[in-house]
Amino acid sequence: MRFRERLQRFMAGRYGMDGLGQFLMWTAVVCLLLSWFVAGPVFNTMALLLLLWGYFRMFSRNVQKRYQENCTYYRYVNKVKDFFKKQKSYIQQSKTHHIYKCPQCKQKIRIPRGKGKVAITCRRCGTEFIKNSR
Ligand SMILES: [Zn+2]
Repeated sequence: MRFRERLQRFMAGRYGMDGLGQFLMWTAVVCLLLSWFVAGPVFNTMALLLLLWGYFRMFSRNVQKRYQENCTYYRYVNKVKDFFKKQKSYIQQSKTHHIYKCPQCKQKIRIPRGKGKVAITCRRCGTEFIKNSR
């Protein structure tokens, strides 16, 4: 039997590679690289554990469970992406706008720059406060 066929037979019914699997492998590689520069067994051990975890998932027959793990992984990835998107838009807005917080309910309120003294009414709780929007 050719190697490919043997591999296919071996992988039949097993989970294989997915997004989380690739993440584990790449993180393992990064840990391995770091272990060359950082003294101590920390990164070496981490690389080994990540590789073992990655292979365990690849060869696992519990496809349903692995699939759910991958979904959880993507949920976290999206959260991180959203966080950076928000930071980026916050920085962009801060060039043209001041962002104030309502002293009562902490609602964020956007005011264009260069307005001078402005009375702001909170949209959420109706509290009025005065800010100097230079
Ligand atoms: Zn408020």
